[in-house]
Amino acid sequence: MRNPADAFDVLLGLTRALTEQDLELDAALRTVTDAARRLFSGTHASLRVVDETGDELRSGARVGVGEGEQPPKFERGEGVVGWVIEHGQVARIDHVADDPRFIHFKDQRYVIASLLAIPLWSAGKVVGCLTITSDQASHFDDSDELIGRLLANCAVPPLERARLQQIAMTDPQTRALTHGYLLPRLEGELELAKEKGYALSMLLMDLDHFKRVNDTHGHAAGDEVLVAFGELVKRQVRKEDVFVRRGGEEFVVLMPACRAPIAFAVAERIRETLADTPIVVSSGAEIRQEVSIGVAEWNQAEDAKALEGRADAAMYEAKRTGRNRTCVSK
Ligand code: GH3
Ligand code: MG
Ligand code: MG
Repeated sequence: MRNPADAFDVLLGLTRALTEQDLELDAALRTVTDAARRLFSGTHASLRVVDETGDELRSGARVGVGEGEQPPKFERGEGVVGWVIEHGQVARIDHVADDPRFIHFKDQRYVIASLLAIPLWSAGKVVGCLTITSDQASHFDDSDELIGRLLANCAVPPLERARLQQIAMTDPQTRALTHGYLLPRLEGELELAKEKGYALSMLLMDLDHFKRVNDTHGHAAGDEVLVAFGELVKRQVRKEDVFVRRGGEEFVVLMPACRAPIAFAVAERIRETLADTPIVVSSGAEIRQEVSIGVAEWNQAEDAKALEGRADAAMYEAKRTGRNRTCVSK
C-alpha cells in the first residue's frame, strides 16, 4: 500500500469524475478500473457487473496487462469472481495456485500470482466485482483490502445509475437500444460527425415476411428468430456502431465515420449470412429468414429525421423490388 494521502487523492479524483459528469456505463467502469490500478499498483484490474438476467457476469472494463485480450467468461458461482458475487465477501488470495476457487485460463497471457476481489453491493444485492491482480505473490495487505472496500463503496452509486440507465435503454430480447433512443442518439451522432468532419451511414433493416414465421411456427419461435438476428447483427458490426430496435421486426444500425460503400458491404454481409444460416429454434424447427435493408449516408446537410426517411425509402425500395436485398439511397 502506498501513502494514504495519495490514496485519498485517487479516491477524490474518482468520485469527482463519476459524479460531475454523466458517464455511460462503459466509461464509468473504465474510470473505476483506472483508479483501482493507480491505487494498488497491481498489474491488472477488471470490473464485472451482473447483467439484466442477474446470472451472467457481463465483462466490464479492464486495464493493465492483457487489456486487448478477450476476457474469460464466468457464470455466477464460477471462479473467484463468481465466488465473490455469490457470497458477497472479499477474496484476498496470496497464492492463487493454492486456491481451489481460482480457475487458470490457459489463454491468459499474463501472470497472476495474487489477487484481491471485492464485491460491489447495491440495495442489498451484489451487483458486480472489482478484481485487481498482481504478478507477485502476497501483493495485497490489510490496508489494500480496506481501501478496496472504500473504492467499491464510492463507485457503486454512480455505477448503478449508469447500469440501470443502460438496462432501461436496452431491448432485453435483442440487446439493441430501444426505439425511444433512436432519434436522440442519431442527433447526437450527427452533432459529433459535424464537429469532427466525419461521415455517417445508417442501415434500416426489416425482416421479410416475418408475420409468416409467427403464423407458421408460433410467436415464441418468432421471438427466437429476433434474438438470433440480434446476435448475428452484433457479430457483423463494429463496437462503435449503434444497434437499435426501431420496433417489432425493424432494426437500425448507425455507423459513425462510415461512407455508403462500406455500409453497403456490411449490410450485404448481414443479409447474406442471415439468408444462408437457418435458425434452429427450440421446437427443433429450422427457420429460414431473410431481410431487406436500406442504406443511407448522411448528406452533411439533412437532419436526423430526413436521414432516417431516406434509409426508410431505400428499405421500401428493397421490399418493392423483391425483398432479400440491400438498396442504397441516392
Ligand atoms: P414484410 O416483408 O413486408 O416486412 O412482411 P412482414 O410480415 O415482415 O411485415 P408485417 O409488418 O406485416 O408484419 C410484421 C410482423 O412482426 C407482425 C408482428 O406480429 C410481428 N412482430 C412484431 N414484433 C414482434 C415480436 O416481438 N415477436 C414476434 N414473435 N413477432 C413480432
Ligand atoms: Mg416491418
Ligand atoms: Mg417485415
